[in-house]
Amino acid sequence: MEPTSNLVTRLRDILESPVTAPGEPGYDHDRASFNTLTDHRPQAIVRAGSAEDVARAVGVAGDLRIPVAVQATGHGMGLSAPGDSLLVDVRRLDEVEVDPDGRTARVGGGATWDRVVAATAPRQLAPPIGSTGDVGVAGYITGGGVSFLGRQYGYAADNVREIELITPDGRRRRLTAHEEPELFWAVRGGKSNFGVVTSLVLDLMPVSEVYAGTLTFGGGSAARAFHGFLAWTRTVSDATTSVAVFRRLPPPMDPHDRCELVVNVVHVGSASSGRRELAGLRALSPDDDTVTAHPVARINALIPGPTRPGAFVSASGLFGELDAGGADRILRAVGPGVVLSPGLIEVRHLGGHFSKAPATPNAIANRDAGFALYITNPAASAAHADAIAAEHRTLLTTLAPDLTGGRIPTFLGTSDVAPDAVASAYAPEGWVRLRELKRRWDPHNLFRVNHNIR
Ligand SMILES: Cc1cc2nc3c(=O)[nH]c(=O)nc-3n(C[C@H](O)[C@H](O)[C@H](O)COP(=O)(O)OP(=O)(O)OC[C@H]3O[C@@H](n4cnc5c(N)ncnc54)[C@H](O)[C@@H]3O)c2cc1C
Repeated sequence: MEPTSNLVTRLRDILESPVTAPGEPGYDHDRASFNTLTDHRPQAIVRAGSAEDVARAVGVAGDLRIPVAVQATGHGMGLSAPGDSLLVDVRRLDEVEVDPDGRTARVGGGATWDRVVAATAPRQLAPPIGSTGDVGVAGYITGGGVSFLGRQYGYAADNVREIELITPDGRRRRLTAHEEPELFWAVRGGKSNFGVVTSLVLDLMPVSEVYAGTLTFGGGSAARAFHGFLAWTRTVSDATTSVAVFRRLPPPMDPHDRCELVVNVVHVGSASSGRRELAGLRALSPDDDTVTAHPVARINALIPGPTRPGAFVSASGLFGELDAGGADRILRAVGPGVVLSPGLIEVRHLGGHFSKAPATPNAIANRDAGFALYITNPAASAAHADAIAAEHRTLLTTLAPDLTGGRIPTFLGTSDVAPDAVASAYAPEGWVRLRELKRRWDPHNLFRVNHNIR
């Protein structure tokens, strides 16, 4: 057992929440992440049971100038809390309270979308959820949150009314368009740079059913289908959000080492309007088609995603408009002979309300992008993860003529920690403003285990 540090002693003196330290029972459980590339090794972990305890813990870390990391589910991009840090585990802050008349939900800073959907669906209301129900709401929203309802309702961060934040000085603050508006702007996009979100109030959407699912095109028809998909996106209304996913099938799954193309679609509306919108996609003759009507209660389980923890390496970018030449360049970049291990290369359709400025502005920028690129591959070891990251860099270089150079904060990857990579997720003037706010609110950069705004 390691000697108890000053931090651990002070935390145990003032917190009701459990604190674990290296070598103690529960420490390995508490530091584990869904993305096993993340290897948190902090000198203390607080399993926060209340916002007050988060505030007290951050206050102690501030006194001792100890960096603070935050974790909900560990679905993030593999950035690890170092040995001198404090890890605040927020997953017990998972309460969800729905106001059906006001169409809002107050959501704890550790709640997952699964919990939110379970509370909102019986009221025929939907939150601005992404592809996976087991992702944490606060982590997703502080990165923007690219929702499957997004072309209709914008980024998830555009649908936040209020945030309760524990700032680096250990104080509990309410942020709205009128209270601490600068910080409210910054936290919606600035990730965990400004403190710990202990709760937030979200707008809910009046959605009772969706027409959604997956169309799959085998290796032989994927190239033609991708061109058809891009042409189809130009015809759909804002009620339809979709993503085309290339899934590599190395031999023997596909003897020609091609990718299949999986198109995930969510249409907010009835089966009849959905069928009309999807006719152009179905005309491309998918090999498999699971798109059908679903009650809103299933909205967190429509898009297939990883269900078990694993090591995931990711990279991302943004495209402007993709023409036939751009589509061909993508197809060449993901074509046979590319040695990326089985993984996913996603092209998400943006536009619609993703492109519109929200009523209460936030730090999310690059809104003129037409499509988002997100690449993720499972890694078998740390060395393999490095090799995959190198392949991602090559892929991004190949696609550079079509990429805008911008990114979305939520998709910043393990390799995107350098200041210019983080800055690419913001507008130039937004980056200056974020840095000024960071200097003001977190002068000692306590919150630096993240895509850091230095
Ligand atoms: C399978 C999968 C599917 C995904 N689908 C989408 C998608 O459709 N759209 C999309 O936009 N993104 C998507 N993402 C990205 C995901 O939204 C981000 O990785 C998000 O940050 C995960 O948050 P988390 O709390 O679950 O993970 P964690 O690893 O626990 O946290 C991730 C980051 O958020 C910070 N954080 C978490 N909680 C808090 C809090 N309460 N206060 C302050 N900071 C906090 C952490 O410090 C960390 O930096 C997906 C990721 C995965 C793995």
